[in-house]
Amino acid sequence: MLLKNLADSHVHLMATGQIRCTLSLAKLRDWRELSDLPKDREFFRDHWYVGFGWDENLWPGKEIPTAQQLDQLFPDFPVYFSRCDGHSGLTNSLGLRELGRTGSGLFKEKEHLENLGKLPAYSDEARERFLIESCRTFNEAGFTHVRDLGGNESQFLLAQKLEKEGRLTLQVDWNFPCQDLKSFENVLRQAIRCRQLSSAQNELKGIKFFFDGSLGSDTALLSKPYAHRCDHSHGRQVWSDDDAKAVIQRSWENGFEVAVHTIGDEAVDRIVNLAREVSSKGIGGRLNLEHAEVLQPETIKKMKPLHVVCHLQPCHWLSDKAWLDQKLGELKAYAFPWEALRRAKIPFFFGSDSPIEPPSLFRNLQALDESVSFGIAALKADPIEFHLCPSPRVSGETEVKDGQIERVVFQNKIVFQRKPELI
Ligand SMILES: [Zn+2]
Repeated sequence: MLLKNLADSHVHLMATGQIRCTLSLAKLRDWRELSDLPKDREFFRDHWYVGFGWDENLWPGKEIPTAQQLDQLFPDFPVYFSRCDGHSGLTNSLGLRELGRTGSGLFKEKEHLENLGKLPAYSDEARERFLIESCRTFNEAGFTHVRDLGGNESQFLLAQKLEKEGRLTLQVDWNFPCQDLKSFENVLRQAIRCRQLSSAQNELKGIKFFFDGSLGSDTALLSKPYAHRCDHSHGRQVWSDDDAKAVIQRSWENGFEVAVHTIGDEAVDRIVNLAREVSSKGIGGRLNLEHAEVLQPETIKKMKPLHVVCHLQPCHWLSDKAWLDQKLGELKAYAFPWEALRRAKIPFFFGSDSPIEPPSLFRNLQALDESVSFGIAALKADPIEFHLCPSPRVSGETEVKDGQIERVVFQNKIVFQRKPELI
């Protein structure tokens, strides 16, 4: 089977390469095992020891260590360990001091992202290594086109340098995230500059912001309380309505798309309402809903007059299915709404959210297939069509054979060829 312009519609390009070069915490079966991990120079950012990928669900009693408990393992240097969903992080007392923080050492959402921003910067050389590693990761998985949600001007310029050198083996559609309204104008200026520089392989599309958290961290905003909690928590709205509306309006006025991280049904509904308010003033543009893991039929109806595109990650179902019913309760009926969107003719695409999930066409196909017997409505269409780039500027060709990626050609150059198996 030959696929043209196979795309992953939601990725973090730099982070994908970075995490492949970062200390992995995915295999820990107890937080105390942190002290057994290698302390190679490459796992330090300056004097900070940094890792990614822990999941307390795999630890005894799901216990998350405090800064003081981490001090017992790491008394001599600051540490920062990010959770597998990228929505929380842990530090020790030296870390708290350098970050100017107090508290338990566990940070979520905005505070976690701010912390990451305060860690010592990577060198240009390291960042180039991450981008090359990322291209290789996507190419090996069959992808020639990606839509990035984690970029900034310096990443964009670095990708263009690699493009000129013939070393960027992907088409990248960029969306620059903005952390809060205060930083918006700065992000907008970066986006305007990069749009003027847009090239065949790198094009600036829009601005992204987070409106809620994740189901894994119980921070996705739901219309009903989390069924497994006794505190009646609905999750978190991380931006105010006014700020979200201002960013949608300012982005559209400047001709940019808006991409909003919305996982819970309440988050999507509120964003769709805000977008409708902006568009009722005669200001329009494209609204990308990232994840949209839970969607009420009423919300889907309200999307119709807007230019909405949803970006879903079936593979999240594979990771979430163990606790999905427990957390969502009756909202489970609205989870992973690909078929509801298809029936409503709202355009959508599939992706991985790499590095949160590994980029993989096959994992998404597997999730679409297996989720049916767990009560998720079957997608009544060829799933491949949601994995093809809708606006290719350069050509990619992926050969799939026996359920494996056989060969990937990007702009007439072979960028991946499966090695013959040794017998
Ligand atoms: Zn993402």
